[in-house]
Amino acid sequence: MASPVEKAAAILRDSSRVLGFTGAGISTESGIPDFRSPGGIWTKYDPRDFTFQKYVASHENRKLYWRRSGEFYEPLLLAEPNAGHEAFARLEKMEKLLALVTQNIDGLHQRAGCLEEKVIEIHGTVRTGSCLQCGTRWPSAEIRARVRAGGPGVKDGVPYCVDCGGVIKTDTISFGQQMPTDKLSRSFDLAASCDACLVVGSSLVVMPAGEIPLAAKQGGAALIIVNREETPLDPLADVVIHEAAGPALQAVLDRMRGGWLAGNS
Ligand code: NAD
Repeated sequence: MASPVEKAAAILRDSSRVLGFTGAGISTESGIPDFRSPGGIWTKYDPRDFTFQKYVASHENRKLYWRRSGEFYEPLLLAEPNAGHEAFARLEKMEKLLALVTQNIDGLHQRAGCLEEKVIEIHGTVRTGSCLQCGTRWPSAEIRARVRAGGPGVKDGVPYCVDCGGVIKTDTISFGQQMPTDKLSRSFDLAASCDACLVVGSSLVVMPAGEIPLAAKQGGAALIIVNREETPLDPLADVVIHEAAGPALQAVLDRMRGGWLAGNS
């Protein structure tokens, strides 16, 4: 009987329009903790203290946010891509990747070599920050350097826009902040037109993001889930691999290549 790795390889070998869907679990092997596993951010902090509404409401709340931001963001800004990110870049080189929807904000898929235009960051990115008033955008490294140096526009460790004085926020989607409707509708359109959906490292409990793989399955695509733990969509999936993402994905891709060589020799 075929193993889950062989089954996943066979599905991907037969597919030409693979939609990737990734969550925090693909980046834990790069040293970035996910939110819900032991030691994750939400085991230390209450997410209700970090809503969009609280951030825009007062300078005091922003002070708290920027005091803690080092702990949130330094690991993301310093991390390097791992074997899981590289596997998606390999799928792209094989011209199989239709697009990659990621809940991650770390930018590691692009750093591993996935084309910028194919990666849809539905929860935003930590790599830039913007003024909520005039929309000017800067690299996060530049904003953080300005905060550290107490440069222009910085008050009590909180950066404000040097052009208009507006509130600056990292370009991530916070709790209570509206999801980018253009990215979401593009993701659901792609889910309807892919022939396989490869989900990696997501608990699939954060909505509406978790509904994207479900839409792919309901649209007739094969569903492959690679996650250390069970997810609510496991019963619907064609293949489930409960293993660490990087080694499992590399095994699947190596197996695809093995099958391709065997079939073409
Ligand atoms: P989640 O924390 O809810 O779930 C992560 C899942 O990945 C868990 O089920 C866990 O068992 C699994 N996992 C952890 N390490 C794994 C590994 N090495 N191999 C396979 N599976 C592994 O994450 P989520 O579903 O992405 O949703 C949480 C939200 O957290 C997202 O909105 C995301 O924006 C945000 N987040 C992003 C990052 C990042 O950008 N790297 C990090 C933490 C949280």
